[in-house]
This record gives sequence, structure tokens and C-alpha cells, in this order.
Amino acid sequence: MINRKRPLEALNFCLASLDRTSRACSWHADYEPRIALQALTRFRKADLDPGSPPPVELQPYPHFDLLHTMALAAFLVHDGPSTFALSILRRAYHANPFLSRMVRREEQVRVEGSDYAGKQLAQEGMLYVHRFIRIWVNVPGLEDWLKTCKDDVEMRQCDALGCKNMEDSEGRLSVCARCRQAWYCGVECQKKDWNAGGHKRRCKPPTAFPFPQ
Ligand SMILES: [Zn+2]
Ligand SMILES: [Zn+2]
Repeated sequence: MINRKRPLEALNFCLASLDRTSRACSWHADYEPRIALQALTRFRKADLDPGSPPPVELQPYPHFDLLHTMALAAFLVHDGPSTFALSILRRAYHANPFLSRMVRREEQVRVEGSDYAGKQLAQEGMLYVHRFIRIWVNVPGLEDWLKTCKDDVEMRQCDALGCKNMEDSEGRLSVCARCRQAWYCGVECQKKDWNAGGHKRRCKPPTAFPFPQ
């Protein structure tokens, strides 16, 4: 969709796929693409305020493919950097930091050999980076944006539903000791997310996703 110059539809697809209240967003499996396809026109450009985060609560877990596609689509829909795109890029970065680092030219990662294993990244994560990096480097202004918002993007946000606390305002976040994928600003948020946020159903010890911190 992005290659066909339909970033708004791509954005809607990703928003529906990761919207915690959407039927396309499953707690158990990854997500339900057929349902997300029905949501391609859900938000018009006028509905999406570039100065605010996305109008849905995003599932915070490592769907690096959807998160990166959504960040790029948001950048294209609003013709450049925005708070909206930044808040998505932040989640995308924490799901898979290598695409941003490679576009910023801080890192070269090979798929061949053991490089991806040395980076403790699942091979599918590395393949995604190599498959789509050409799209990212060819978007005017994108590389500059990634360089200027680097510090902002690398700060984590609490993963609990509705909590907007960031690493800088609330001190260090703590990671869930079991899955090592969910980050919280405190015990209250962790408890809230366990039941009401659905983390209990998704919390599994890491297999292929022991990301560097
Ligand atoms: Zn919190
Ligand atoms: Zn967990």
C-alpha cells in the first residue's frame, strides 16, 4: 500500500491491527488481517491530528512490521515529522531498533552469517529490515527526521493501558521479569495491565525476541 502511494490506507490497516479495542487485534494470535482490511477508510486524514498521538490504544508488543509500516505511513500522510508519527516510531524502535539505526547510518547489519544472531534479533526481524530499508532511505526528509528525534525515540513509554508516563519523567521503567517485553512505570501499572490490559494472556518467556536493552 505504501509503494502504491496509499499511506492513509496502510495507516488505517495498521491502526486496526494493533488497536486494543479492535476485533482485528487479537490477544492470542498475532492479529486478524481480514478484519483489518475492512478498516482501510476508518480514519480520514482530517480525523488524525498530527500534533497528538494516535486516537487508539496500541497493543505494545513486538509487531515490528506493523509498527514500522505505521510510522512510515504516518510520516507520509502528514507530509513529514509529527507528534503522531513520533509516538508510533517510538514503539517501532523498541520492537526492532535496527531499521532506525541503519537509516541513520549508525549500523550495518547483514542477514548472512551469524550477524543477526549476534544482535540477539530474530531472523525474521532482520529480514524485515533488509526488505524494507530501501523504501525508508528513499523517502525525502525521513533520514533527517530519524536523526533529530533519536533521543526522543529511544525513550520508552509505560505499556499499561492509558498510561502516558515516559522514561524521563518517571525515572527508569521496569521490564516484566517473565516475558521481558512489557515495560511499566510502577507496580500499579503492571498490576493493571496484567488483568485489565490483557498482559496475563500474552506474557510468555522469550523465545526468539531477547532484544538488547
Ligand atoms: Zn504507567
Ligand atoms: Zn510479561
